[in-house]
Amino acid sequence: METRKVAFYTLGCKLNFSETSAIGRQFEEYGFEKVAFEDAADIYVINTCSVTDHADRKCRKVVKEALKHNPEAFVTIVGCYAQLKPQEIAEIPGVHAVLGAAEKFRLVETLAGFEKPTTGPGRVYASPISEATEFHAAHSYGDRTRTFLKVQDGCDYSCSFCTIPLARGHSRSDSVQSVVERVEKLAATGVKEIVLTGVNLGDFGLQGPERERRENFYDLVQALDEVEGINRFRISSCEPNLLSDEIIRFVAQSKRFAPHFHIPLQSGSNKVLGLMRRRYRRELYQERVRLIKEVMPHACIGVDVIVGFPGETEADFLDTYQFLNELDVSYLHVFPYSERANTLAPTLPGRVQDRTRHERTTQLRSLSEKKKRFFYEQHAGQEAEVLFEDDVTNGQMEGFTPNYIRVTAKYDPLLVGELKRLRLTAVTSQNLMEAEELGIEVFQH
Ligand code: SF4
Repeated sequence: METRKVAFYTLGCKLNFSETSAIGRQFEEYGFEKVAFEDAADIYVINTCSVTDHADRKCRKVVKEALKHNPEAFVTIVGCYAQLKPQEIAEIPGVHAVLGAAEKFRLVETLAGFEKPTTGPGRVYASPISEATEFHAAHSYGDRTRTFLKVQDGCDYSCSFCTIPLARGHSRSDSVQSVVERVEKLAATGVKEIVLTGVNLGDFGLQGPERERRENFYDLVQALDEVEGINRFRISSCEPNLLSDEIIRFVAQSKRFAPHFHIPLQSGSNKVLGLMRRRYRRELYQERVRLIKEVMPHACIGVDVIVGFPGETEADFLDTYQFLNELDVSYLHVFPYSERANTLAPTLPGRVQDRTRHERTTQLRSLSEKKKRFFYEQHAGQEAEVLFEDDVTNGQMEGFTPNYIRVTAKYDPLLVGELKRLRLTAVTSQNLMEAEELGIEVFQH
């Protein structure tokens, strides 16, 4: 019998990408062949996101695209959007099955023969989110340079704009020992950098059916720092109230943890933080940044911000702008607020017009570019270790320093996956860093 082919499409965050890889490996264990999305596959798996704007439209578009490549294919939808709106998705023409959060890691067993329903909408296999209590480990596996390793899932917080707890369930984690074993295996395959990923990573440690707190994120960081064979660990993102002083001080003297923090702020106005139901105020955030910069002056700090949240007046926005302008951070990820069904935020008074949301986004994105340039310029002339990745665009390749400076260089296949000590020279007009080999100038833009 001919080997059946499966192809994947992932929307959304790194966690989704790592889960797609894990589902892909399950298919391979069952003897399927993984092919590119453009190749005619027998089965398409589309991993959706609920945070993406117009999730429904995007999902429809990818289904259409899949069927263009093979009109006879079996199309399955998984992911956050599938958990939130399973019936709606099952009605999309061409969708044969929809699997929720508790079912997606049993996809091959659940759909067994991949028999299409003869009539009506696609089949739905989605239990209530309260039943998604198991932790399923996952990691992405791209060019083997950098891997995203999922160590935590779900969230117990209730930020008023967020659907993630509804789509992914309560907070739950792998154990420290199991993560260490996975990391050792990845090290043996030549992975150089691991990015620790989760929905609320700082909440790592709730385990088992009772979700007892057996360990915490600091335990994990300390244990991983001892694993031989991995050059760098990066913490993908950590809530400011969970990024403790002890973690910051540990990273400062660590052998392997990169001096790079991504800390969601969401708003620099305490009034808006309250409306968002965030668990900190701006003074705590300021204190985290101060400590990081005191113990690691070269650290890179990224910030998530949402603008145009209901009730955010011009004065509140300016408060955020001023706060960020004065804060010693290196870049911003700015998102215009967007209404999500079944959340509290859209019911709050003071809706901000779409045009204003976009204007505020533009202002903060331009502040981000300035901050990034300033951060990069501070490092020009210094030496740094760069880990080059496999992507090539217009003959150029890119790599990152431990503190997340993006370095551009002429493509050289020998550099892929290599750690190379270079001198950072100048910042390009696109905010990329140029570099040269120590002694001889070889990397030109
Ligand atoms: S911390 Fe807030 S924003 Fe982040 S996943 Fe949890 S509820 Fe959503």
